[in-house]
Amino acid sequence: MSSSSKCDVLVVGAGIVGVSTAYLLQHAGLHVTLVDKKGPCAGTSYGNAGAIVDKCSVPNSLPGLWKSVPSMLLDTTGPLTLRWSYLHKIMPWLVRFLAEGRSERVTHNAAALRRLSETAAADWQWISEAAGLSDLVKEVGWLKVYDSEEGFEGTSDARAIMDAHDTDYEILSQSDLYDLEPGLNRIFKHGLFQRSARFLLNPEKMVKGIADAFTKIGGNIVISEIQQITENEQGLVATGQSHKIEAGRLVLCTGAWSKNLAGQFGADIPLDTERGYHLMFQTPNGPTIQRPIVYGEKSFVLAPMEMGVRMTSQVEFAGLEAGPDYRRIRKLVPLAQKMLPSLDGKEQDVWLGYRPSLPDSLPVIGPSPRSNRVTFAFGHQHYGMTLGPTTGRLVRDIVLGNRDSLPLWPYRANRFS
Ligand SMILES: Cc1cc2nc3c(=O)[nH]c(=O)nc-3n(C[C@H](O)[C@H](O)[C@H](O)COP(=O)(O)OP(=O)(O)OC[C@H]3O[C@@H](n4cnc5c(N)ncnc54)[C@H](O)[C@@H]3O)c2cc1C
Repeated sequence: MSSSSKCDVLVVGAGIVGVSTAYLLQHAGLHVTLVDKKGPCAGTSYGNAGAIVDKCSVPNSLPGLWKSVPSMLLDTTGPLTLRWSYLHKIMPWLVRFLAEGRSERVTHNAAALRRLSETAAADWQWISEAAGLSDLVKEVGWLKVYDSEEGFEGTSDARAIMDAHDTDYEILSQSDLYDLEPGLNRIFKHGLFQRSARFLLNPEKMVKGIADAFTKIGGNIVISEIQQITENEQGLVATGQSHKIEAGRLVLCTGAWSKNLAGQFGADIPLDTERGYHLMFQTPNGPTIQRPIVYGEKSFVLAPMEMGVRMTSQVEFAGLEAGPDYRRIRKLVPLAQKMLPSLDGKEQDVWLGYRPSLPDSLPVIGPSPRSNRVTFAFGHQHYGMTLGPTTGRLVRDIVLGNRDSLPLWPYRANRFS
């Protein structure tokens, strides 16, 4: 049996971007429906490392990266994997991605990322307090550690970008490092510390908590997969298998699954997915860690969540349809135990997620090319948890017709056409 409903604004997709957007619009007095094919936090917002890296400025494509790609692909414990059957599909995206490593593009992308993340901590503080969830946000910073001189020297380009774009960081000596994190194995020689970063102790609880807070202020949640969006004189009609929802405005927050729906509103966006994995462990054998820590040379993160230590890793190019392949992340477990000797190595949970990524490391935030009634808000790649509440605030201002608090043209939908 199909049902139909009406609202002022329909938000499609209930990850961190969608729940933040829905909450802020409902809070502003609009009648909002949030629809998701599986319910809140069913996508990539479930299993990430929970770091809120405010004032981030380092895009993923950097000068000279193309030279390291072959060795990264050949390293069996390295961070990058490609399913060869997906090569022909990802190739145009990869070519654009590597072209974004030209120095003038890096400067542009870094500045745009930095501007967008300027208020991430403040936006998180506002939404977590409004939703009664501030206990889940810890001000513990974001730490990267290196076991070799070479590994640390490899960060010089990233540090130059952070210096140029006013991103604060500290270089830690070995003794500073172990004062901060006594549980780490004494193999690390250098640390890079972004002190102002925050950490979410449980991303799932946070996203579902914001969704609950949204319903408490009158918002409506529907579970349905939206397949088609059409526009008529009255507004928009979003159609799922068993639902039809009429809305004056619509915001598309469907993360890595946004390409087809955005295409219905005139946008051909080079969106693909950088897949990533997690494993969960306990640390019964001694001290744990206090904050998310990146093992720089190996590109994995250990994050001390309230449910245990989560290891996240990998960029895998294999699209949205291929099944998971946990072999690569499992190979990293001995390295994780070497990094943190108290880690028991007994896998408790395993997960595959889909970072929604554009070649320039910037999201799409703004009106669709075909209709001002449809706003796009997706493509937050490695920083979606960081940028979710900020994106929600920017979208609220677009929908309400308020003056933009920062120039939105770097994030426009048609910037690649
Ligand atoms: C391993 C890993 C570690 C990460 N660590 C961090 C980190 O530490 N810090 C950070 O800032 N970011 C991190 N990220 C990135 C971050 O998790 C993502 O950028 C973010 O979760 C994207 O949020 P979203 O709301 O755009 O998408 P999602 O959370 O994927 O939500 C999209 C939603 O849309 C729904 N949907 C899709 N299609 C439809 C449809 N047709 N109809 C209805 N609903 C639909 C889905 O069910 C889903 O719930 C990490 C990512 C990975 C994979």
